[in-house]
Amino acid sequence: MIPKMMKAALCTGAATPLVCQEIETPVPQAGQLLVCLESCGVCHSDLHLRNGDENLPDEFYPLVLGHEGIGRIVAIGEGTQTSLKLGDRVGLPWLYDTCLDCGPCLTGSETFCTHQRARGIHAHGAFAEYALLESRFACVIPDGIDPVQGAPLLCAGLTAWSALRKTSIRPGKTCLVIGCGGLGQYAIMIAKAHGATVIAVDRDPAKLEEARKRGADHLVSAGPDAGMQVKALGGADISINFAPTPAVWQTIEQAANPMSDIVAIALVHDPVPLSMMWLIDGGHRVFGSSVGTRQDLRDFLDFAVKNRLDADVEVIPLSQVDTALDRLQAGSVTGRLCIDFSL
Ligand SMILES: [Zn+2]
Ligand SMILES: [Zn+2]
Repeated sequence: MIPKMMKAALCTGAATPLVCQEIETPVPQAGQLLVCLESCGVCHSDLHLRNGDENLPDEFYPLVLGHEGIGRIVAIGEGTQTSLKLGDRVGLPWLYDTCLDCGPCLTGSETFCTHQRARGIHAHGAFAEYALLESRFACVIPDGIDPVQGAPLLCAGLTAWSALRKTSIRPGKTCLVIGCGGLGQYAIMIAKAHGATVIAVDRDPAKLEEARKRGADHLVSAGPDAGMQVKALGGADISINFAPTPAVWQTIEQAANPMSDIVAIALVHDPVPLSMMWLIDGGHRVFGSSVGTRQDLRDFLDFAVKNRLDADVEVIPLSQVDTALDRLQAGSVTGRLCIDFSL
């Protein structure tokens, strides 16, 4: 029996704390599934949204955040065509849906669809006991993945995976990971699993120590001479940036080996001094990557089961999600925070 009301952590406006309150349980329409949440990871994007950094229009509120949700299907909207069944465990990632009919959508690059909608912005997210999922955007969570330990795979892990799969990563290549928070730690594990040598850069010694535990071969402290240190260690064939500062460009430029791949992930709003001559002489490829497609998620979860991507997950009850965001803001969290709905 699905209750008429459910608990949700509600974002009532920009820069206001999330409040736990009862709201109406959504009813799935044609093409939609209703999911009873077991877990939802807490991401830095949730913090930016709560703090009002995204300048969302007033009509977007009240809003339920959360885009690393895992739960079981408890209702299927009438007229929905799907092979999924009640009880199936599914993921609720950042990408809520896309138009399915533009160039990027038709060629497996739907994360660049200009009509995409995000979970936790354009549709209610998973900081709630129940949430809607578009059936065409549903991904089954394999049995080998624990819902709480595995929730961060849906955003942090997927984003790192999707970025690395666009590069030439393989054994013999050296991958430079800049920024060793949650995403960076996944990138290190994924790059190592692909047989690459990994050089990790961060300004925080604790994060570098964590990077070492995840398999990074070399640790370099962030700063003006980080790029030259990386160069002395053999340079970077692949550079992947998770640090939200334009200061990293100097490191990337100095560290790059000829014909390197450079992937931008962190949301750096200020421009960087990209030299066209450096680009031409080195034959580099510079590109962006954003979350991951449905196929990326399926492939990545399969990879995660086979490669045991252990993250350091701290569980919290739904009622503590706002405090958890404060802790993320203070930088006092080393692993990933995840709501466990059984608490
Ligand atoms: Zn996220
Ligand atoms: Zn599209």
